[in-house]
Formats: sequence, C-alpha cells, structure tokens
Amino acid sequence: MKTPDLTAASASATDTRFAGASLEARGVRMSYGSVEVLRGADLTAAAGEAVCIIGPSGSGKSTLLRCLNGLETRSAGDILLDGEDTAAMDINVLRQRVGMVFQHFNLFPHKTALQNITLALRNVKKMSQEQAVGIARRRLREVGLSDRGDHRPGQLSGGQQQRVAIARALAMEPQVMLFDEVTSALDPELVKGVLQLMADLAGAGMTMVVVTHEMGFARQVADTVVFMDAGVVVESGPPEQIFEAPQSPRLKKFLSQVL
Ligand code: ADP
Ligand code: MG
Repeated sequence: MKTPDLTAASASATDTRFAGASLEARGVRMSYGSVEVLRGADLTAAAGEAVCIIGPSGSGKSTLLRCLNGLETRSAGDILLDGEDTAAMDINVLRQRVGMVFQHFNLFPHKTALQNITLALRNVKKMSQEQAVGIARRRLREVGLSDRGDHRPGQLSGGQQQRVAIARALAMEPQVMLFDEVTSALDPELVKGVLQLMADLAGAGMTMVVVTHEMGFARQVADTVVFMDAGVVVESGPPEQIFEAPQSPRLKKFLSQVL
C-alpha cells in the first residue's frame, strides 16, 4: 500500500493544543449473548499518545472501542480515564470526555453540517444557540469546511462528511478521541485528507485510539501499535517493532496478508 504523505503542510492544520488524558483498559471482557468477543483486552494510551489498533475482522476491535466510551458495557475488567474508573462515571460525562468517530459518519441526514455540530452542544452542554454556532463554525474552519456549514450530509463528499463528524466530536472538547475505521467507507482519493486531519490532531496532543487498516498511517503516526486477534491483544509496541520485528506467528501471518 502507498504510504500517505503525512508530512505535507495541511490547509486544515489546527492551531489548538489539546490537553489529552490517559486512557487504560485492563482485562476487559465482553460477551454478545453466550459468545465472549473480548477475552481480557489490555491497552494503554498515555496522555497525548496515538495508539493504533490493527487486526483481522471480527477480532473485537470495534467492541473494545465501544467499551472504552461506554457504548457497550464490559462484563469484567477496568477502564481508567485520566486514572479515574469509568464505571463510576456518568455515561454522558464519559461520552463527552471520550469522543468517537465511526466508519459511516453517523451524521443526521436532514440536518446541516452546522446543525449536526450544534445539536449536542445545545442538548448536552446546554449552550445558547449563539455560543454553539460560534464553536461549530470554528470547528468547521479547523477541518477545512468553513464554506460548508449550510450543506446537508447528502450534499457533501464522504471525506467532507467524515470531517464534519470529526468536527462534531471535537466540539465537545473530548480528552480522548476514538476512531473506528473512519476511512474505510471513503473513495480512495478522499482517504488522504482525513488521515492528514487525524495526523494533525495527534500532533496537537490529542490522545487517540485509532482502529485502522491504513498501515502507512499506523507506521507514521502511532506511538504504539496494538495487534488484536480473537478478543485479546496479542502483541503491542512501537510501530518499528510491530512492523519490522513482529514476534507472534499470528501477527506475522496478519502482516503478510495486509502489507
Ligand atoms: P472487529 O471490529 O475487529 O471486526 P467486532 O468488535 O465488530 O470486531 O466484533 C467482534 C465479534 O463480535 C465478531 O465475532 C462479531 O461477529 C461479534 N459481534 C459484534 N457486534 C455484535 C452484536 N451486536 N451482536 C452479536 N455479535 C456481535
Ligand atoms: Mg470493526
């Protein structure tokens, strides 16, 4: 796969510095019915770090992300945000502090880009319309979409829709951002811009946990790469180690299939 050029100056580079928090999962287990899909998963993202999760389809990557921000409830294990047990946290506070962006954007189709961003600011953060619009416009500007605020998702490209979804998550001022295969549904020519935006966020100090098939991105942007298979983290380490010196047969086999 061609490595994206992540060094090019981005028109959308944010000048915000983020105060990312640490996020740690310890022995997380989770079942769908009688099927245990997370069998004791461990993961640590230090404050300001980017962690990329790679692994085969069905290995539990999405489920782990969903546990990290409370979209799924784990059956065992601990998740600590900034050292604080998330089990004791109000779910709305947790989701505000740990933002998530999805493969299929999950924007409201009948609302404009601006309205998609102001909605949670109004409803969850109880902001005035004026304040919410001010923040939404700033976030749209940061993701390079100043002139698209009045467009509905159907009037935007996939890449633009994903930028709106990222702007919406950032507007809540999260301490951690989770990305679940956010470029997998995009046309190839739109992938690079979204990856660049994510690289900018990582560079600006956001703590990020990124499930991705983009090995070039993982190699260049991740501080730590985590390989999951069958509901557990099989191997993790800095990208050079994971990609150049994989230890486990399962990771070696996976890499031989994707690289
Ligand atoms: P990945 O993101 O690595 O592809 P997932 O976390 O989506 O893996 O899925 C892990 C396992 O859990 C898979 O076997 C999948 O079929 C199963 N699974 C995922 N979501 C559900 C669900 N809502 N109900 C039942 N099984 C599910
Ligand atoms: Mg998935």
